[in-house]
Formats: sequence, structure tokens, C-alpha cells
Amino acid sequence: MSETEDFPTQANVVIIGGGIVGCSTAYHLAALGCSDVVLLEKHRLTSGSTFHAAGLVGQLRGNANITQLLGYSVDLYRRLEQETGLATGWKMNGGLRLACNPERWIEVKRQATTAHSFGLDMHLLTPREAQELWPVMTIDDLVGAAFLPTDGQANPSDITQSLASGARRGGVMIREETEVTGFDIDGDAIRGVHTTRGTIRCARLVICAGQWSRRLGQLAGVGIPLVSVQHQYLITEKIPGVASNLPTLRDPDRLTYFKEDTGGLVMGGYEPNPIPWAEDGIPEGFQFTLLDNDWDHFEPLMEQAIARVPALNEAGIRQMINGPESFTPDGNFILGAAPERDNVFVGAGFNAFGIASGGGAGMALAEWVHNGVPPFDLWPVDIRRFGKPHADVDWVRGRTLEAYARHYTMAWPHEENRSCRPCRRSPLYDRLWEQGACFGEKLGWERPNWFAADPASARDDYSFGRQNWFGAVGEEHRAARERVALFDQTSFAKYRVSGADAARALSWICANRVDGAVGTVKYTQMLNPRGGIECDLTVTRTAAEEFYLVTGTGFATHDLDWIRRNIPADCDARIDDVTSAWAVLSLMGPRSRELLQSLVREDLSPRAFGFGQMREVRLAGASLRALRVSYVGELGWELHVPVEFALAVYDALMLAGLEFGIANAGYRAIESLRLEKAYRAWGADIGPDYNPLEAGLGWAVDLASGKPFIGRDAILLQQQAPLGKMLTGFTIDDPDIVLLGRETIYRDGERVGWLSSAGWGYTAETNIGLGYVRNPGGVDEDYLRAGSYELEVAAERVPCALQLEPVYDPKMQKMKC
Ligand SMILES: Cc1cc2nc3c(=O)[nH]c(=O)nc-3n(C[C@H](O)[C@H](O)[C@H](O)COP(=O)(O)OP(=O)(O)OC[C@H]3O[C@@H](n4cnc5c(N)ncnc54)[C@H](O)[C@@H]3O)c2cc1C
Repeated sequence: MSETEDFPTQANVVIIGGGIVGCSTAYHLAALGCSDVVLLEKHRLTSGSTFHAAGLVGQLRGNANITQLLGYSVDLYRRLEQETGLATGWKMNGGLRLACNPERWIEVKRQATTAHSFGLDMHLLTPREAQELWPVMTIDDLVGAAFLPTDGQANPSDITQSLASGARRGGVMIREETEVTGFDIDGDAIRGVHTTRGTIRCARLVICAGQWSRRLGQLAGVGIPLVSVQHQYLITEKIPGVASNLPTLRDPDRLTYFKEDTGGLVMGGYEPNPIPWAEDGIPEGFQFTLLDNDWDHFEPLMEQAIARVPALNEAGIRQMINGPESFTPDGNFILGAAPERDNVFVGAGFNAFGIASGGGAGMALAEWVHNGVPPFDLWPVDIRRFGKPHADVDWVRGRTLEAYARHYTMAWPHEENRSCRPCRRSPLYDRLWEQGACFGEKLGWERPNWFAADPASARDDYSFGRQNWFGAVGEEHRAARERVALFDQTSFAKYRVSGADAARALSWICANRVDGAVGTVKYTQMLNPRGGIECDLTVTRTAAEEFYLVTGTGFATHDLDWIRRNIPADCDARIDDVTSAWAVLSLMGPRSRELLQSLVREDLSPRAFGFGQMREVRLAGASLRALRVSYVGELGWELHVPVEFALAVYDALMLAGLEFGIANAGYRAIESLRLEKAYRAWGADIGPDYNPLEAGLGWAVDLASGKPFIGRDAILLQQQAPLGKMLTGFTIDDPDIVLLGRETIYRDGERVGWLSSAGWGYTAETNIGLGYVRNPGGVDEDYLRAGSYELEVAAERVPCALQLEPVYDPKMQKMKC
């Protein structure tokens, strides 16, 4: 590293931000042997949000890998002091979570099962047992509690200093009082970082600037959708009975949390009416600064807390803290390689659990920066999960405030967001709304989840049992299986890949053979070099030098980024997002051919229009693309219609469809239909941690032709070795049991995995779950058949049946007729 007056002019990696996340990233880059790393902090280390954090360190999240990341934090904080000589204040006193009503108790029991699925030893306690661990609380209203012994608490500033010390020892140069003011941008890359002390040329940039990250992202041309929200807690004087080993406590029905602090308590919470901060930008000089206390806002939480801990009535208040923190629209943090730039990484938006996640997030981000790939799939926090609406800060703020307010409210199954809606609408939106559509939302898109007989009752009533839409979705499901159903799937992400070398480029990126004749539709995965599934989509050849790609709504940014980064440099090929140009009406069911044929002149007979084909057909004045594919396992067509014709095509289909018993159907029916067919969902059943052989998708990988593609070598290698895990189906016929996903799988009494997705199959009349069975010694069909299985559902084990084939039409006779 070259330096002028102790200030570098060049670096391999520049990290912006000396909070826990920047310091953890620096520490882990050093540990990886990455040299020439500079961390820049505009004031002093910890002077952002880190210095005023309460320091609770919980681990359990709804995703196994994010839970693993937080578990890594715990391991790190435990050993850091020994390594660096600087204390971290780490105390593994466990974490308690209370349930005060029967529904919350089900939620807590389901969380305990999720914990078991992910290898955490969470116990369920009676109210009295919980009180033994937490003597200063009342338990009159308690139904039960869950206890995770490995949770704990730490001192945020001390951990950060300890990480910084470890980073310095590993060769990282940390420069405080150095503000980043701008960037040199060259094409898609950042080449230089301007600071108040000079410019540093760099190969890679990492933005870990907490709530300042959005502004820095703007300067770098990167969208970082986070906003600042006020968060308050108080610290009491000593309270009799509060021992230093008191576990942390979360009391979600009272929206509050507690932790021990020098014999007193820290008490904070999540108000239902959060207050945003710095809407017009963070004021200059806001370092080591707190906001004015807002007692009026805090009082309702205080009342709740006193009801739980009456001693708070008498306890003196040592300090009240009101600190701003960055929050995001879905309550998860933001990590990874920014899609807009070739060499910019982000670790920000920690939603008041940056201390709990800092260790693991820094580890993962460092690996991402150093190796170009994360250590494992981090989709729930991946920066590419965002999309178009997230470019509007007001939209982001609205959604973020909702996420904050819902931090401790019941996380109902199938719960939808309410804020900032409707945003993106299909041309059919009004028509479907008039017919009773109950919409859900994904990436801003309104999508019909189900249809109520009476539009006035088109709303979800949430519960942990069968919800109010259960019967209506059954009707939609049966329409698709027995007659014909129409699904509005306009929100699909769609791309055009074109150019003289488009076929060669896609051939390299796709695992299946996609360069067939014009008019061929291919289902394919795109693999990473480890053979993991990065994308799962259909590729249609529309012309010699043009392809049409269709993927899931939520993967729009991710898949575009994956393809763009992997088009070989020597290929004349480009990718364009054409999502807004096409509406998608999926016509599915045994009578779909008769219906469609009654409206179009083109021959739809099996011989003329086989499965896996695309033809242009004319209908209601529109020239549309009809793709013969199906995610529901029936004869059917995805009709891709230029948006201005969508309504006319819809009306024509619905009118002609009367004779065939057509019905509108929504996404909840799709879920049930695809589970019966054991079709995989990316982000749940498949993703970068799973290869196609483990996922049972080896048939979609073209090894036979010998064509080269990303991940081929890994798949060849995998073929030589036993599979460590295999995606497997399970069923439980009892309709009173509700499977939601994350239920633990036991084989012969041993924990072997968890359900990656689950739901009710209306034709098979059974609960269906998909999940990986893991065994270090290898898994094959014989091994699977030799076991007997149970699923843990809400902390109770229930016998289940193994399903090695789809429960519906395993021979694919319906779809390919
Ligand atoms: C009241 C409160 C209580 C909390 N309690 C907990 C808890 O119990 N458990 C938990 O896990 N989390 C908690 N948190 C959250 C936690 O504090 C944060 O998630 C965490 O500190 C975020 O760390 P960070 O490194 O991302 O950001 P920060 O700590 O804000 O660090 C970002 C740094 O970037 C620097 N910077 C910004 N712009 C520039 C620039 N242009 N040039 C150079 N440097 C720049 C800033 O000065 C700052 O130091 C709490 C937060 C609050 C507000």
C-alpha cells in the first residue's frame, strides 16, 4: 500500500464506516489474508448507531442461513476477547420469549420447531419455569415461554473496538476523521474514493456506513433502500432481584424487550407508530449524538413494561436513549454485491439487530468481497432482492415504517403487507378486483392470491389454522385440475437476450440446452461454478438471435444481474428487461385446448403444438406469444400478451370460457397445484446451496451433448460422489394439521432436515411438504425408503409418509397430452 503523509493513495479494498459492520468486515478480510484494506471513518469508530445499541444478541431468524450467520456472531464474540485482548462484554445468559395468548403460543411453538430445524436447542417452558429464570416478572397472563440458552448480550462499542484491533493486527489501515465525499466512476466500476484527506484509488469499495449508506450509494450510483427511524430504550438503576445472569427477555405481546445492565434493566420496544428521522438528509456533524427523548411516544411501552416488571414503578431511570437507526422495507439487512456496479459491495440497514448480526454479516461480506461469492446462500438479505419501487425513498419509508411497527406483532402465515399499495398493477387489475380478487403483493406488484365469491369479503382473516380463503382456493384448484382456470401472472420478470452471440452466451449460462430451433421453450437452471442453482426459469428462442426469458417476480433484479455478469466478454449479446411490455395470462386445465382453439385459427393439436413449444397466435386483435408450459401440471398455455391488448384477450377468454367452466384463479391455488406436482420454488426448495442432482432436477441438466456451461465440472464431480442431501416429499393426511414450511424432519428419530415449503394439496387431499433429507454418509432412494419419518409441527412430532414421486400425475400424462 502506498501512503502519502500516513494517508494511502491506493488500496485493494476501501471500506466506508467504522461501526460494528465495517470493523467486522475489515477484521474478516484480514483473516482471509486480503491485503491493502483501508477502513475510513468520518469521525471516530462506533460514533454512528453502534455506540448507543442496547446489545441484545438473539440468533433465531426465519431462514436457516441467516440463523447460522447470527450463530457465527455468538461464536465470534465468545472467542474475540481471548484473541485480541479487548473485552467484548459477551455474556451467554440465554434469551427468553414470552407468549401471552393461545395464538402467540402457537407462534412461539412454531418458532421452537424452526429453531430445532436449524440445530438450535430452544426449550419450551411453563410460566412458572420462565419466572424461575426471570424472577422480577409477573406471569399472570403468560401461556408459556421459549428459552434459547445460547442467546446473550454484549457491549457493542467494545466488540467493535475489539474487531478493529484484530483488523489492525491483520494489516488493515483504519483512518478516522476521514470523510468520504465522492467517487470516481469509470463505466460500471468505482475507481477512486474522494475523502476529506485526499483520493484513494481502489479495486473494490464496501459501503458499511449505517444510515448514511443510502446517500453514499446515490453518489456511487447504487440503490440502498433504507431509512432512519427513531428507536428508544431506557436504563434503570439497580433493581433488587436482577442478577447479572438474567437472560434477555422479549415480550412481543407487550412490544417490549429487556436485558440486564449493571444490576438494573435495559427496556425498549417497537412502537406501533414509529417516528421516521432525517427525512431530508442526516444533519452534518451527527456523531456520537442522540435525539431528544420522546416520553409521550415511549409511555405506552413503559406501561406495558411495568405490567410485566412492576419493580420498574419504583426503579430510578439512569438514562433514556433515543437513537436513530437504519431500517429496511422488509426488516432484513442489506448485504452483497450491488447490481449497478461491478465492484461495489454493501453491508447496511441492520434494523436494530446489527450487533447480533455484525459478526456473521462481516464474515459473509468479507468472503463475498474477497472471493467474489458469499460463503452460502444469503438470499433473504441479498441486495438483489429489491426492485423498482425501492428506488423511491418515500415508498421505502412507508413500507419500512410498516415493517418496524410489525416487529413484534404476530407473524401470521401468509400475511401480506398493507402499506404503499396498490403500486404496480397488471392491466387486468380492475377487472379482477371487480370479480372478488384478494390481492397479495410482491416487489410492488399486485397479484391475485385468491377470489372471493363476493368482492366485499375479499380479505384475508389470519390465523394459524385453516384461513378463510381455504375453501375458495380449493375451488380454484379444482377448476385447474378438472376444467380450465385463468391466472394473471403479469408480474413475471421477463428479459430479451439478443445479439449475434446470444445463443452462445445463453448456452454457457444455462445448464439445459436452450439453443434449439426457433419456437422452443426450455426450462433450465443457471448454475454457479459450485453447481448451485442461481436461477430457475424458462428460455424461449424467439428468433435466430433473440431469446425471451421468463422468471419469478421476486427474482427480477437478481436474475438480470446474474445473467449480465455472466455473459462472456467476447460475446455479442445483451440483455434487456422487457417486464413492462408483456402481460401474462396463464390458461391451465384439461379444457384449455378446446377453449383456446375456439378463439384462434392456429392449430393447437398436440401434433402441431407440442409441450415445450412457443407459437405466435392471434386473438382479439392481438398477436401474442403462446408458450406451452405449466407450473401447475396441467395441459395449458402461458399467453404473453402485449400489455395494451391484455384486457381484450382476457375478456375474450372469459366469455368463451363460460362454456368450458372457466374460473379465475390466484397464487394460492398455484402453490397447492405445484406442490402436488413437487415443482420446486427458487428461494425455498432450490437455490445456490443446492445443486440440480440434490434437487432432483438432474434431468434438466444437459451433460449429454458435451456443451460447456457454468457449473458443469461441479455436476460431473457430484455425479461421482454420494449426495449429501436430497429433496424429498412428505405427506400428512390429517387436515387439522397445518404445514407451513420449516417443520423439522426426523428419520428414525434423528433430525435430518426441515421442510423448505409446504401446503395443502386439494386433489390429493393431503398436506404436502418438500424438504432436504441430509446425511453426511450419503442419501439415495434406498436410504430414503429404509427410514421411517416424522415431522415436528409446532413442537409436536407427527408421523408422515415419504413421497419419492409427485402425488399428482407422476407420469406427466396430463400436462403433455
Ligand atoms: C436505540 C438502539 C438500540 C439498539 N439495540 C440493539 C440491540 O440490542 N442489538 C442489536 O443487535 N442491535 C441493536 N441496535 C442496532 C445497532 O446499533 C445497529 O444495527 C448497528 O450499530 C449498525 O452498525 P453499522 O456498522 O451498520 O452502522 P453504524 O454504527 O452507524 O456505523 C456506520 C459508520 O459509518 C460512518 N460514516 C458514515 N458516512 C461516512 C462517510 N461519508 N465517510 C466515512 N465514514 C462514514 C459513520 O460515522 C458511522 O460510524 C440498536 C440501535 C438503536 C438505535
